[in-house]
Amino acid sequence: MDFRRLSDLLNKHYGDLHWWPAETPEEVVIGAILTQNTSWSNVEKAILNLKKISVFSLSDIISQDPERIRMAIRPSGFYNQKTERLISVARNIEDHGGLEGLKKMPDQDLSRFLLSLKGVGRETGESIMIYALGRKKFVVDKYTLRIFSRTGITDDGTSMPQKLKDDIEDSMSISELNNFHGALVNLGKDFCRTKPTCNTCPIMAECDYAKDLTLP
Ligand code: SF4
Repeated sequence: MDFRRLSDLLNKHYGDLHWWPAETPEEVVIGAILTQNTSWSNVEKAILNLKKISVFSLSDIISQDPERIRMAIRPSGFYNQKTERLISVARNIEDHGGLEGLKKMPDQDLSRFLLSLKGVGRETGESIMIYALGRKKFVVDKYTLRIFSRTGITDDGTSMPQKLKDDIEDSMSISELNNFHGALVNLGKDFCRTKPTCNTCPIMAECDYAKDLTLP
C-alpha cells in the first residue's frame, strides 16, 4: 500500500477529526510539551487544571507562580521537568514576539529556533509548526512509524525516509496532513497497538502484516 491509499482508507473510517485537540495555537504549544511521555487524557487533565488557575496562554505561564503550575500539571507526569520546560519555552517564544513573531520566520529558521529550545525535539517542534503555526509538516511519531512499517509503506519501524516525508508534505494540504496524523494516532491507539487487533482493524484487507497472519 502507498501512503495515499492509507490516508484514503483512514479518512473513510475516521472522517474529519479536527486534529489537533486544542482550543488555541498557544494551547497547542502547551499541549505539545505536556504530552511528552504520557497519554493525551493526562494532558487534558493538566490543561484543565491550568485553566482553573487562569493559565490560558504562554504569557500566563510566565506570570504565574511556578509552584502553582507544577501542581496544576501533575497529572501529565514529570511535572518538575515539564514546568521548567514550559516556562523556558514560553519565555523564549515571547522574547521572539510570541507566536505572531514566529509566524514571520521562514520554515528553516523556525525549525532551527524550535529545536534549540530545551525540551523540544523533532516531533514536538513539528507539532508546533503545523498545529500552532500552520506550516506543512508531517509529524512522525511512534504510531506513524509502526503503522507505516506494518502496512508495508516503509521497510522498518525505526525511521522515516526523508524522501517519503517530503513527498507526503508536498502532496497533501495542511488540513489533509492534520487529519492524516490524527487518524494515524487513532488507529495506533484503537487497533495497531504493540499487540495489534487486526481482526477488527478497518484497513486489515490491505495491510501487509495482516496478510502475513492469514497465509497458510
Ligand atoms: S491490520 Fe493489524 S497490523 Fe495492520 S494496521 Fe491494522 S492493526 Fe495494524
